[in-house]
Amino acid sequence: MITVQNIRKSFNKTTVLHGVNLNIKKGNIVVILGPSGSGKTTFLRCLNALELPEQGSIDFDSENPLHIDFEKKLSNKDILTLRRKCGMVFQQYHLFPHKTIIENIMEGPIFVQNRNIDIVRLEALSLLKKIGLEDKATLYPYQLSGGQQQRVGIARALAIKPELMLFDEPTSALDPELVQDVLNTMKILANEGQTMVIVTHEIQFALDVADLVVVMDKGEIVEQGTPQNIFINPQHERTRSFLTRLK
Ligand code: ADP
Repeated sequence: MITVQNIRKSFNKTTVLHGVNLNIKKGNIVVILGPSGSGKTTFLRCLNALELPEQGSIDFDSENPLHIDFEKKLSNKDILTLRRKCGMVFQQYHLFPHKTIIENIMEGPIFVQNRNIDIVRLEALSLLKKIGLEDKATLYPYQLSGGQQQRVGIARALAIKPELMLFDEPTSALDPELVQDVLNTMKILANEGQTMVIVTHEIQFALDVADLVVVMDKGEIVEQGTPQNIFINPQHERTRSFLTRLK
């Protein structure tokens, strides 16, 4: 279980997260929906300290428990430990253009985690197989389609064996015909029991795989529940109006 409590974040004097709470069960897929500007990306970035909230905490109640209290000044070690628990996949894939696909995947485990290069290479090959790109290991990012590059982005985030995978609109920069491949890769991870928090507008995907759908608006969670609850029987007016606008 990962417990996120009372995350409060401001930019300049504007508060964009008003004390957000979320419980993420091990192996669960949490999909975050909400209008543009509602704080979804900021919330995700707070979870791995890419943004530092003024208040709030995150607890990993796992084999290697971790308690982060954002009100206290975090040490570099705290931030590094948190980031090793959270793999992040961005809208733009941010692959290193001058490194091959397999080198991109091996980067984190070797340079951040100082792990053995031969073992890391074997693991990277197995990740490439999982995402269906084992024949692309020695190519460079520009030689791959956007969808393939994003799947490499996913493999790279997985390479550090994170407890939690964070996805920030992973398909929104892709041409429509490339979206499904990336969603299918995410479904494979979901079936393997990877815990994930995903910001996306892909409603069908949320219906298919989410254990919990969270609706954000104006920096707070207005409603959360199963996909059936949220999509078929939304309780909150702001959820209904958001869903209507999507249709
Ligand atoms: P969403 O992901 O739901 O579209 P965001 O988290 O990107 O929402 O943004 C929430 C609010 O925070 C927006 O009003 C946005 O303009 C503001 N914001 C996000 N990042 C920054 C930043 N680095 N500096 C100032 N304001 C920001």
